[in-house]
Amino acid sequence: MAAYDYDLFVIGAGSGGVRAARLAATWGARVAVAEAYRVGGTCVIRGCVPKKLMVFASAFGREFELAQGYGWTVGERSFDWKTFLNHKDLEIARLSGIYTANLEKAGVELIRARARFADPHTIELIGQGRQVTAERILIATGGRPKLPEGLDGIEHAITSDQAFHLDALPERVVVVGGGYIAVEFACIFKGLGSDVTLVYRGANILRGFDEDVRAHLGEELVRRGIKLALGVQHARIERRDDGRLVSHLSEGLKLESDQVMFATGREPYVEGLNLEAAGVQLNERGAIAVDAFSQTTAPHIFAVGDVTDRVNLTPVAIREAMAFVETVYRGRPTKYDHADIPTAVFSQPPVGAVGLTESEARKRLGAVDVYLTRFRAMRTMFAGQEERTLMKLIVDRGSDRVVGVHIVGTEGPEVIQLAAIAVKAGLTKAQWDETTALHPTVSEELVTLREKYVPPELQAAE
Ligand SMILES: Cc1cc2nc3c(=O)[nH]c(=O)nc-3n(C[C@H](O)[C@H](O)[C@H](O)COP(=O)(O)OP(=O)(O)OC[C@H]3O[C@@H](n4cnc5c(N)ncnc54)[C@H](O)[C@@H]3O)c2cc1C
Repeated sequence: MAAYDYDLFVIGAGSGGVRAARLAATWGARVAVAEAYRVGGTCVIRGCVPKKLMVFASAFGREFELAQGYGWTVGERSFDWKTFLNHKDLEIARLSGIYTANLEKAGVELIRARARFADPHTIELIGQGRQVTAERILIATGGRPKLPEGLDGIEHAITSDQAFHLDALPERVVVVGGGYIAVEFACIFKGLGSDVTLVYRGANILRGFDEDVRAHLGEELVRRGIKLALGVQHARIERRDDGRLVSHLSEGLKLESDQVMFATGREPYVEGLNLEAAGVQLNERGAIAVDAFSQTTAPHIFAVGDVTDRVNLTPVAIREAMAFVETVYRGRPTKYDHADIPTAVFSQPPVGAVGLTESEARKRLGAVDVYLTRFRAMRTMFAGQEERTLMKLIVDRGSDRVVGVHIVGTEGPEVIQLAAIAVKAGLTKAQWDETTALHPTVSEELVTLREKYVPPELQAAE
């Protein structure tokens, strides 16, 4: 008789958990996965997928405007929030069903319950009145929105979790935060017709992205009619008798709206796991501490994805899960390499980036060359739009390697996925330049950038 009920018990059926459970089962392990909410996790249920559908929905308004510039007569337009939500929910249910079916096909037992540790090898299934044991355990519980503590009236605000299920499209929205989720939702609401103010306490949106990208996108958001309130923060939120919300901000500013959405950060979802019982320790950021093999402080317990707060993206959770299975079930110790991960902000216009920002490159490599272009793309310029695309390449002067690519503009994320291959492969600027341009495209600019760009503040020094 086996000493444990399972070889592997996975907590959380999100991006990382599902992939690890399926692969481990495929390699012969007896696997169970516990899910407290819906199979698919954040990405499928209330993250990447529904968000991208909302981006698509919200982009049509502008497409109608562009069409007129091309000679189309566009009739009366209206958007029905409820119709969209119903379609979106059906699609999410379909995808969640596929994830469930794939688990079953791989022979994974799905347990619909919240799980917590009873001891290092024993899991308690909350609400089911039973415990199970496993030789190894993988924690893949993801993250969740974090609201500021002690802010008066914060209970009137929503997070991205609720933004996917609002009863009606708000006429006026205050979105709080400067990260990618805040920026994306500001654009979604604006595109669907809401009046949007983005409130952020920092001096500019998208901390961590290249400075030129941050400045450029800020200008484009304003051009699209989003109001940016930078350098201010909420003192309290008041709900008036008529249901309207008043955001009382620093500097005595007041903003009235129908909805206030906070996207000021996410935290690893470790609450209730009873990690002490398993000897699993957290790091200084409150995430599960892991080594390069995703092994926790308890040698038989591993953790992948957002709960480890390394790079919080779906493909990263998946790759960490795959590396875990390679290491533990295939006997091939594998460290996932977190360098050069392509990222996108599905703002409107969107951002795509891979590799180092200019300031990171200058710090790490010393001498770098920068190639930068800002231009009006043919498609929108023809229709009379002022929108500008930004493309920027960062090159290590010593090796001539392209170490960073940054784009703000339509198709930026699609282009970056391929540019990431070249960056990861360490191709040089000369090799990029040897590549023949594909004309007429926006991305041809990336292989025709010849003139070095010197930022105004460095011009005197060069
Ligand atoms: C609004 C939004 C937009 C996003 N957009 C993108 C994007 O465009 N691209 C991208 O790559 N990433 C995006 N992300 C991030 C992406 O969703 C996450 O990085 C990814 O889902 C992490 O996967 P995971 O497996 O770590 O956790 P998750 O997918 O969060 O899965 C964790 C699962 O564990 C379950 N769980 C938690 N605790 C327990 C417990 N005790 N017992 C049982 N089950 C439990 C949860 O219910 C959940 O289903 C977005 C996130 C958000 C919030």
